[in-house]
Amino acid sequence: MHTDVVKYFLELVCIDSESGNERKVADKLKADLAALGAEVFEDEAHLEHGGNAGNVFARFAGNPDKEPLLFCAHMDTVKPGNGIKPIITDGVIHTDGSTILGADDKSGIAEIMIGIKRVVDSGADHAPIEVLFTISEEIGLLGARSFDKSQLRAKLGFAFDSHEVGEVLIGAPSAEKFEIIVRGKEAHAGVEPENGINALRVASEAIAMMPNGRIDEESTCNMGRISGGIATNIVPNEIVIHGEARSHDNAKLDRIVGEVRQALDMAVQRYQLPHGQASYEFNSSRDYVAFSIAKDHPAVLLAKNALLELGIEPKIRKGGGGSDANIINLAGIPTVICGSGMDNVHTVRERILVSELEKGADLVQTMIVQHSK
Ligand SMILES: [Zn+2]
Repeated sequence: MHTDVVKYFLELVCIDSESGNERKVADKLKADLAALGAEVFEDEAHLEHGGNAGNVFARFAGNPDKEPLLFCAHMDTVKPGNGIKPIITDGVIHTDGSTILGADDKSGIAEIMIGIKRVVDSGADHAPIEVLFTISEEIGLLGARSFDKSQLRAKLGFAFDSHEVGEVLIGAPSAEKFEIIVRGKEAHAGVEPENGINALRVASEAIAMMPNGRIDEESTCNMGRISGGIATNIVPNEIVIHGEARSHDNAKLDRIVGEVRQALDMAVQRYQLPHGQASYEFNSSRDYVAFSIAKDHPAVLLAKNALLELGIEPKIRKGGGGSDANIINLAGIPTVICGSGMDNVHTVRERILVSELEKGADLVQTMIVQHSK
């Protein structure tokens, strides 16, 4: 009843693979890739990060006169991702609402596998193809970070890890992560509050002055988590704030980070008192680095032309999130992100249309065929 890609997708989502537990899905993909004639490798990325499987990398030899193509997707899912039971209702694949579906990113994997399988099965001459299925993307792009990118010969990459089929994301932002510790002075809140400095108050005043939300069309800033304090009768002496900022423009990102610090400076300045001084510690690190690919780059044109051949409107734009593509682009392999049809991701309402899976597999197949001409 089900088409090849739907059948394969349903098989994949029934294999548990929350981040760090990709073993079973990695084994299946290795076997299936080898059965298609690829040379298959697994690295030891998990030894660095924990988990029970490494990244799966495969090479289909193909015609050496053609430029190799890279297809990638990630094997891990977010939680709750164990015991997924896919349900199909009127052409929509979803779950019973107790787990995610795992279309992020098993839709991408299924479309890549089936697209390649169709080309291989047709016996047609094709360009060399490289396939990278990573681990632990959802918990910090860990697999892609560890993967030895010098193994890649491709100059054009396609990460299938986004929403509607037709989307071609040609850029993604840089992101900076913050951990800020605001310190005040502890005191009894009822007996001697005048001897304390309320770190929560200082943190609040700082946050109120920080850049927040959408800063401009390519930049955002968000303080996402705050913790600290012990009891209502104690003036809190330490508050920890976790936040992030993103921008497609690294100079703008640096400016936003500067403004966050400035807000902290100003707030702390107000609490330099004779009985104690507020202070803060600022820890920040670049989480991932932006990329931007020209609209007329061969990778973009290949995706665009394949979509047009399939009668799907290409939607070429920049994305707002970080993914494995940031890491692969940073390694010098221009890699666009293609929509694979996933919807409501990272929720138990996650779903995908059967028709989107079919379009995604057609896209992979058409790109390989067009590029191999
Ligand atoms: Zn994903």
